[in-house]
Amino acid sequence: MSWFLRGIKKGVKTERFPVGDPEYKPGWSTEISGEGPAECPTGAIDNGRWIPERCIFCRRCYPNYKPTGNVRIGKIYRTNGMFSKSLHVYTIDVGSCGGCNQEINALTSPHYDMNRLGIFFVNTPRQADALVVLGPLSESMREPLMRAYQAMPEPKLVVAGCSCAVVNDFPLKFDAVIPGSPPNPYTMLDVLIKLGRNKK
Ligand code: SF4
Repeated sequence: MSWFLRGIKKGVKTERFPVGDPEYKPGWSTEISGEGPAECPTGAIDNGRWIPERCIFCRRCYPNYKPTGNVRIGKIYRTNGMFSKSLHVYTIDVGSCGGCNQEINALTSPHYDMNRLGIFFVNTPRQADALVVLGPLSESMREPLMRAYQAMPEPKLVVAGCSCAVVNDFPLKFDAVIPGSPPNPYTMLDVLIKLGRNKK
């Protein structure tokens, strides 16, 4: 109901992000900063340095470490300017809990509206520019993952859609990692935009 009323009041429902900061800042799944000891179960804090791609935002390091609100925390290793006008994304769930699926699906909602930025989901890897992997790789999904990757045309990019995807012995090289378990949609959007624009 609040979304509906906000839409009527504002006239436009969609975020201005990535122009400027997010309109509604997410709480925890943003950059973490602080000092002192941390009982981090994933080793995401090393000598006080935060390592985003290892963070699952479990909050065990609180209150020594707190979120700053910065959503631009994706790790991008390789981009491809060929996708500057549009990026077609195929998501593959290789064993997720469902959290990152829900967050990435939110990108099609009126609030984020990824289509306005030239980002589209496709139903087959044969039409995909980027493969977004969700969840830690289970043995039974190893072969379907490789078949999806091989079906994609060149050039192609591989993205870890959450921190869980990077924990296992993963058979493909990631071009980008979207930190969090689950990440917030702003971070997902930020990484997908930068992937196609030769901008890290
Ligand atoms: S929120 Fe991130 S950095 Fe903090 S304890 Fe959990 S995994 Fe470690």
